[in-house]
Amino acid sequence: MWAGTPSQKQPLSGHQINRRCYAAFALVFIVCFFCAKAGIELYKSQQRLIAAELASSQASAIERLLERSLSATYVLAQEVRQNKGLFEGFDEYANEVIRSVGGISNLQLAPNGIISHIAPLEGNELALGHDILKSDNRRAEAKLAIDQKQLTLAGPFSLIQGGVAIIGRNPIFLSNEAGVEYFWGFASALIYVDDLIRSTDLSLLEGKGYSYTLSRNDPVTGAPYTFASASTPLSHEALAATVKVPNGEWHLLLSLPHGYYRELTTLAAALSALIALLVTIQFRRILLHPALLQRVVDEQTKELQQLATYDSLTHLPNRRYLNEQAERVCMESQRYHTPAAFLIIDLDDFKKINDVFGHAMGDQVLKEVSKRLKTCVRESDLVARLGGDEFAVLLHHTGNEFVLNNIMRSINKAVCEPIEIYGQAFTVSTSIGVAVLPKDGPDFASAYRHADMAMYAAKEKGKNSYHFYNKVLQDSAIEKLNIQAALAQAAVNNEFRLLLQPIVYISNGIPAGYEALIRWQHPQRGFLTPDKFIDIAEETNAIFDLGYWVIEEACRLIKEHKITQWVSVNLSPKQFNDARLVRKIDAIIKKYDIDPSLLELEVTESCLIDDSESAIKTLHKIKALGLTIALDDFGTGYSSLSLLKQLPVDILKIDRSFVIEVETDTRDRNIVTGMNTMAHQLGIKVVAEGIETITQLALLKRMGCDYGQGYYFSKPLPPAQILADPQASLGNLPSNHSTGSTI
Ligand code: C2E
Ligand code: CA
Ligand code: CA
Repeated sequence: MWAGTPSQKQPLSGHQINRRCYAAFALVFIVCFFCAKAGIELYKSQQRLIAAELASSQASAIERLLERSLSATYVLAQEVRQNKGLFEGFDEYANEVIRSVGGISNLQLAPNGIISHIAPLEGNELALGHDILKSDNRRAEAKLAIDQKQLTLAGPFSLIQGGVAIIGRNPIFLSNEAGVEYFWGFASALIYVDDLIRSTDLSLLEGKGYSYTLSRNDPVTGAPYTFASASTPLSHEALAATVKVPNGEWHLLLSLPHGYYRELTTLAAALSALIALLVTIQFRRILLHPALLQRVVDEQTKELQQLATYDSLTHLPNRRYLNEQAERVCMESQRYHTPAAFLIIDLDDFKKINDVFGHAMGDQVLKEVSKRLKTCVRESDLVARLGGDEFAVLLHHTGNEFVLNNIMRSINKAVCEPIEIYGQAFTVSTSIGVAVLPKDGPDFASAYRHADMAMYAAKEKGKNSYHFYNKVLQDSAIEKLNIQAALAQAAVNNEFRLLLQPIVYISNGIPAGYEALIRWQHPQRGFLTPDKFIDIAEETNAIFDLGYWVIEEACRLIKEHKITQWVSVNLSPKQFNDARLVRKIDAIIKKYDIDPSLLELEVTESCLIDDSESAIKTLHKIKALGLTIALDDFGTGYSSLSLLKQLPVDILKIDRSFVIEVETDTRDRNIVTGMNTMAHQLGIKVVAEGIETITQLALLKRMGCDYGQGYYFSKPLPPAQILADPQASLGNLPSNHSTGSTI
């Protein structure tokens, strides 16, 4: 059905969205982690550079400290050389040197290699007398110092008195009198390794997580020997720096804090995961957006569809929905000859419920009716509300006409049952028009038109009934159209005629007035009575021309025939509500210069129902012109008795329906008597319409009617005939039995 619509981009399914989200997560994670790793590597290489620099700066620091500490041995040696050997006040001198140079644990003098002086002595007493040149593990450096005539460094080694220390030995050479140089002994300085390290920044770095070792190669075995280290072992990534010492070199290894990079990597991974997660959430939201939008659009479309295809009051499908379904059913019925039926159901006189009890109550009634309609048909059939008090039913696969008849009867009956709302009981009846498919089709437009015609026929038949569409209805509809067309020209073509029917004093039969009754001299159909065209004229605007023609013609007759009794004209509801009415009447009266009291207007209650307030105003204006007013067809309306008091009415015309059975129906007699009593109390005169027999006349006279009108006195006659000799036309009074010429 929608093949022609352009293809729309479908939103992704949940599964597709998930797959894309996983991919996005992985991608973002990899990218982030890669970047973080690269950053870490960069940082790492920077840290390594820094560590390398730190290592070399610490190595230099150690060199400087050593140099400085060992310089004490030169000072001491110099003093020995000046004194040509041992000198007085060694302790004092040595302690002074230790204080000013710093970093030295003790200073020693060892003439010929035998330690003779130690400052400070305390705690080092054991070393006194120790022959360095004979000591196995210290001899090598001592000998080397002598051989090379320069300071050598021994150790580090563990001291007898505890601790690890290094000793710098400075060989002292003196010259004898002959100027020959000879080895005097050693000036030595003992430096604790711990003290040395403490003077550098290594322990500070250790506090920051760095690790270090300080080692040297054993001078004998060549094996590496670590003599100082941090409490934590070195990591793989250690940076080396060389510490140059007087007779060799030490190795300083410095490594970056342990697990530092592993933690950084873990952190980078966690951060990458977090970023990937956030990005994925956002991404998912973007992906979901069209799906969400689609869902909102779908929901709103559904709501709109519901609004567009269902009636909000009764929740029944509306006209639009019906159109769609009915078109299909008509087509199927046509193609496969499946019997179906389309019904238009109209509530009779529903407007009165709205007018009298208000629209809220009217709505409740409509709801109840819609429920009842549904109970009369099958689930598969369609009950729709066309609007207002009009419903439609689409019956699929109906049986024969007998079955259909039963359905119609059941609908009439179901709706007709009293409805109680808020303690108020209502009775509504229905008029149903039926179009049988496929014969009354072929399309829905035809079926609708035919059912509508049948519905009007049902209404005309007398309400609470149903009518099947048939050819006669079609013909009369065509006839109606023809009349409509001809009516538009009738007034212009001067085809209307006015007859007069006398309204007599019931007491003596003398005409008190005349009712003007229209006829149409139709060029083809001949003389037409108002029932053939008044309603049609009412439906179109032709009623205005017709109505004003009647008023003018009545005035013309009054003038021409010098009529001294009143002439009453009938006013249709539509014309009564014409804003120009009063002005036009006034103009016509002036035009013919007649006594306005000779003109009477007959209005029916239906003129007053729509807006009784403004209707009463109009009546007063008419009265103000000097006209009299008659309330026509009294008793057939709805709220006549209550309204009567407020209406400026002169005459009440009791409808013919009360007169017909006045002889046999006591109820009608009571009503007529009541109407008379009431009207007279209000100063209103009463006309009994449609008197045909002398018995009716006698009864109505007894009941108090003031005037009588009817065939018993005279049929409506052409004015010339009736006015030539009014008495002659009243054949029945009192002895003549002629009823005048029949038209
Ligand atoms: P209505 O106003 O109730 O007029 C009285 C109708 O009863 C007239 O029918 C009259 O001929 C008929 N009638 C009078 N006496 C008897 C009787 O003894 N027996 C029977 N069977 N009928 C009797 P008519 O002339 O066919 O008019 C029918 C209706 O057409 C009128 O009913 C009135 O409502 C409407 N009508 C007639 N002329 C006009 C008009 O000029 N303008 C408008 N708007 N409506 C008109
Ligand atoms: Ca009338
Ligand atoms: Ca009447």
